[in-house]
Amino acid sequence: MIDSHIHSDSRPYEDFEIMAAIFDCVITHAHDPLKMRSFDVLLDHFDRILEVEIEKAKKNGLKMYACIGIHPRAIPKNIDYDVLKSYFKKEGVIGVGEIGLEKCTKNEIEIFLNQVSIAKEMNLPVVIHTPRTNKEYVTREILENLETLSLSLEFKKKIVIEHVTKETIPILWDTDYNLGLTVQPQKLSSKDVFEIVSNYCEKRFLLNSDSSSAPSDIFSVPKTASKLKAKGISNSIIKAISHENTVRMFNLKI
Ligand SMILES: [Zn+2]
Repeated sequence: MIDSHIHSDSRPYEDFEIMAAIFDCVITHAHDPLKMRSFDVLLDHFDRILEVEIEKAKKNGLKMYACIGIHPRAIPKNIDYDVLKSYFKKEGVIGVGEIGLEKCTKNEIEIFLNQVSIAKEMNLPVVIHTPRTNKEYVTREILENLETLSLSLEFKKKIVIEHVTKETIPILWDTDYNLGLTVQPQKLSSKDVFEIVSNYCEKRFLLNSDSSSAPSDIFSVPKTASKLKAKGISNSIIKAISHENTVRMFNLKI
């Protein structure tokens, strides 16, 4: 089982022991733990993930990969894209994320598209955040902006639009992107996931907890899996959303 989206730098040490006992691997993502007063503060955040967090996971026997990128709520001034690219090449980095849009300002859109373009050039998977507020509007904006990059079908399959809801799935269903199902207070419940996988083909869904400093449940992936099983969802569907789709999208060797 895999938790495809967490923020390990905001979790206690004890969670690493728990995750090691439950998961084949987890993927931690860069986010907005601080106001990024300068580009260097952002790099310190990346360094902490790549040096401290991955090491902490290793000590606990937990396999952890990282996605690195500029979150729309953590945009610094004077971004050096060459330095950013050098971070995308570092050991342990398997994708660009989480990036995306929050308020759809011109600056956010420019930085979002620049990062997707670099990911495309480097053939790296991309994890795209959608916000809690104005989710449907922002989801449409993300799709329209991605459209301007003329991405290949092959590359679109390396992109996941995160934190989808029953309202945004219909907007996204005709695209080729993967869709992240986040079971977390204020996002989806396991009942919502049950309704979603009962109505849509499971092949593009990635289950996760988005465990962070916001109210979260580190057990939400295994709890959702057992609740789906109790409601009669087949093992192959549960395995697809809680393991196989993530392995395929990120080309994980586990
Ligand atoms: Zn997140």
